[in-house]
Amino acid sequence: MSPLRGRDLEAFYSLTLQVGNTLNLDKEIEAFLDWLGSAIRPRWAALFLADEAQRRLQLRGLRGAPAVAPASLPMGDDPWQWLEEQDLLPPEATRGRRYAVPVTVEGRLLGVLCVVSGKKRASQREQNLVAAAAAYLGPVIRNIARYERLREELLSQVSARTQAEALFRSLVEQTLVGVALLDAQGRFTYVNPALAHMLGEAIPNLMDRPFLAYVVSEEQTALAQLFEQVYRDPQASAQRTLRLLRKDGREVHAEVAIQPVTYRTLPHILVMATDITERVYAEEAYHAVAERTPTGMTIMQEDRIVYANPAFAHAIGYPLEEIYRQRVSTFLRKFIAPEDREQAMRYLRHLEHVGAALERYTFRYVRPDGTVRWAQAFGTTIRYRGKPAVLLTYIDITALVEAREAVQRRAEYLQTLYHIVTTASRAQDLQGLLETTVDLVMKALEAPIGGASLTPEVSPQQVPPVLRGFEDTEQTQEAAEVIQESLGQITHWETAFVIDNWEQAPPPWQRWAPYAQRYGVRASLAVPIGLPERPLGVLFVADTKPRSWQEEEIRLLESVGQEVAESIERLRLIEDLQEALQAKEEMIQNVSHELRTPLTLIRGYLELLMDESLGPLTPEQREAVQVMLRNADRQQFMIDRLLLMQQLRDWEVLWEPIRVAAWFQELAFAWRTQAEEAGITLEWEVTPQDLRLQGDRRLLTVMMDNLIHNAIKFSPNGGTVRLRAWRDNDAVVIAVSDEGIGIPPDQLARIFERFYQVSRGLSRRFEGLGIGLSLCAEIVAKHRGRIWAESKGEGQGATFYVRLPALL
Ligand code: ADP
Repeated sequence: MSPLRGRDLEAFYSLTLQVGNTLNLDKEIEAFLDWLGSAIRPRWAALFLADEAQRRLQLRGLRGAPAVAPASLPMGDDPWQWLEEQDLLPPEATRGRRYAVPVTVEGRLLGVLCVVSGKKRASQREQNLVAAAAAYLGPVIRNIARYERLREELLSQVSARTQAEALFRSLVEQTLVGVALLDAQGRFTYVNPALAHMLGEAIPNLMDRPFLAYVVSEEQTALAQLFEQVYRDPQASAQRTLRLLRKDGREVHAEVAIQPVTYRTLPHILVMATDITERVYAEEAYHAVAERTPTGMTIMQEDRIVYANPAFAHAIGYPLEEIYRQRVSTFLRKFIAPEDREQAMRYLRHLEHVGAALERYTFRYVRPDGTVRWAQAFGTTIRYRGKPAVLLTYIDITALVEAREAVQRRAEYLQTLYHIVTTASRAQDLQGLLETTVDLVMKALEAPIGGASLTPEVSPQQVPPVLRGFEDTEQTQEAAEVIQESLGQITHWETAFVIDNWEQAPPPWQRWAPYAQRYGVRASLAVPIGLPERPLGVLFVADTKPRSWQEEEIRLLESVGQEVAESIERLRLIEDLQEALQAKEEMIQNVSHELRTPLTLIRGYLELLMDESLGPLTPEQREAVQVMLRNADRQQFMIDRLLLMQQLRDWEVLWEPIRVAAWFQELAFAWRTQAEEAGITLEWEVTPQDLRLQGDRRLLTVMMDNLIHNAIKFSPNGGTVRLRAWRDNDAVVIAVSDEGIGIPPDQLARIFERFYQVSRGLSRRFEGLGIGLSLCAEIVAKHRGRIWAESKGEGQGATFYVRLPALL
């Protein structure tokens, strides 16, 4: 390219004045095309700018034609051809000479300038000028592009910074954590609303004031030292609780973190403070309660006991210093009873991991003096000083457990006593009573040796002493003698005679020690049978090894001793009663016999008189004899019953078949006169007609006689007495019913007792001894049958039923 001269140089100079003055690409392009227009007057011109990313040429400016929509052609294509295809060339542009000049910078294509010259033949000069202009345009375009890139970058950086700052501000301003920046003198250069609020002061008032002015005086020195330390070591940071002083003089408890930071290129201290006043107060309140409550409390955290209250220390018997800060496992091993340790650990682990609240757990613990006590723990997970922890509360339940055990022991004791007493009281005689009692107490007290002996006054027939657990009969015999001999002493006993170890027997008893030794007795427990003032004998148990007799054991044996005495009294009463009964039976027997002999004689003569064997009778005499005979019969009936009652005990039932119909007929016939005299109709009925039963005809007749006799006797107003019999499965049921005075329901069972009579008031007394029905009952029992009575009540009649085996 040749140098520019003359007008061209001037034109180029004007280009440098017109173009490259702004940082606006569009304006520059416009200015450039304007300059081109005035400098060379082309027919047409266009500027394409390269878009390297798209590898296309962008049409940016047109000279001498209206603007067109943005358009581009791929790089490397011929722009003229593309312009024609796009129909962008105006008709006048088709005539002049065309040429294209690249716009480059340092070999990089920035664009292409297309020109249709205004002259017929474009001179070399014109092309030189255009090329120089294009060369000038290159750097201009590049600089603008560079500037724009830079500007965009700058803009984006600036906006990021302001955004971050805004975010930081809004965070710090809104957080509940107090934040402040202190300068080297410890004065506020920044403070957020939370901290200002904490200090009860407006933000502007805080600025430039020393932070220490808002700290309680006691803590100022320590804090100042801390600041210095943090300054000296930029890596340092510290955290501590602090009492801040509000403007109004109140104190605020805060957890404060201090850290060196650089702010606006100067070293500062960043202070962050959390208000923990509520927590501190809550803890204070908690501790105030915990220090005074009788409930034991511990807090465990990270396997350490971080808190224990005085009640806990007092209960377990260790000083607080020995509990506080101890490892949980070490401590549990120290105070929980070995049997319960593993479970206690498991309980704690469970609490820590599962965190179940208020689970109850009972365990034994050992005090330093070795005493074992019971406690119940309630565990729950809590947060303590900001971290998870386990709170255990304890109550000592030893008294409760002991009381429960005592009740249990008492119940067992009563049960044993009841068992011994009821079993022994069933004994039929003194010997049996003593034997059962001794066996039972030995078992209950787990004693290998035992015995009982009665004083001679109690058992005149000499009930021999009962001795168990001695080696052989010879030894037993000898022991019996020794005990009999010592019995005299028991009259003086006030309480039980307790020897835990015969080798250390008290002096009064030492004379028996050799015997004890001989029989291998090392410990013994003896109580009087009966009350101390009225001893009936002695009851004892013994052991072959020393033994400390328990209070319960002594009480049990004493109670048994008293109960045995009562049983003895009872047995003696029964014996007396049996003797009396025996005597009475014998008397009845004798009297009956004595009465029967003369009665037989009387009846004999009366019958002779009646037969007129002793001479004829007047009607009046006959009447009199008849009355006498009838009463003699009645007396005979009574005496026979009495005698039969005595004999019945040894009576053997003579089983024979009885045809009920025939038997009833006989009975009706036998009773017809008496029934007639009483104005009573006697009826009978048997179904089926051939009904038969098994039994002792003589006894059953006596039974029926009694039932019929009663039926007539208790039917004062006449009426009907009905005998019935029928089959009921393999039994025959007999019923004797009347329409008489009836029986009150509450007496129905008792009338079968011997000598029992229903009391009916003075006006309605009936003769009788109350033995008829008891006789019936005995007869029925001998037949393995059943007898019972039914009555709807007084005046409603009565029915007596008898169930006997049928003859199949
Ligand atoms: P007793 O010899 O006195 O008749 P029993 O043993 O035969 O004695 O009867 C006992 C009691 O049963 C009688 O005193 C009477 O009160 C009552 N008793 C028995 N049979 C009848 C009956 N058929 N009607 C009402 N009471 C009766």
